[in-house]
Amino acid sequence: MKHLEITSVCIACDNCRAVCPEKAVITNGKEYYIENWSCTLCGLCQEVCPIDCIKTVNDPIQFK
Ligand code: SF4
Ligand code: SF4
Repeated sequence: MKHLEITSVCIACDNCRAVCPEKAVITNGKEYYIENWSCTLCGLCQEVCPIDCIKTVNDPIQFK
């Protein structure tokens, strides 16, 4: 599995939050986060981020 992370260079432009169809991007007004449980990995937020600071992170493989 993968998830998205917003890195600390985020300039709080609000583009990602405005475009997310799942309302998975949340903010406290200063920092931005992605709620992984509601994010569908559609990639729209990454397309509109002007500084490319939303990174796709591969989760470690989990063995059952
Ligand atoms: S990948 Fe899609 S669903 Fe996930 S946070 Fe970005 S815009 Fe929202
Ligand atoms: S689009 Fe990029 S720079 Fe703008 S608020 Fe989202 S993560 Fe931050």
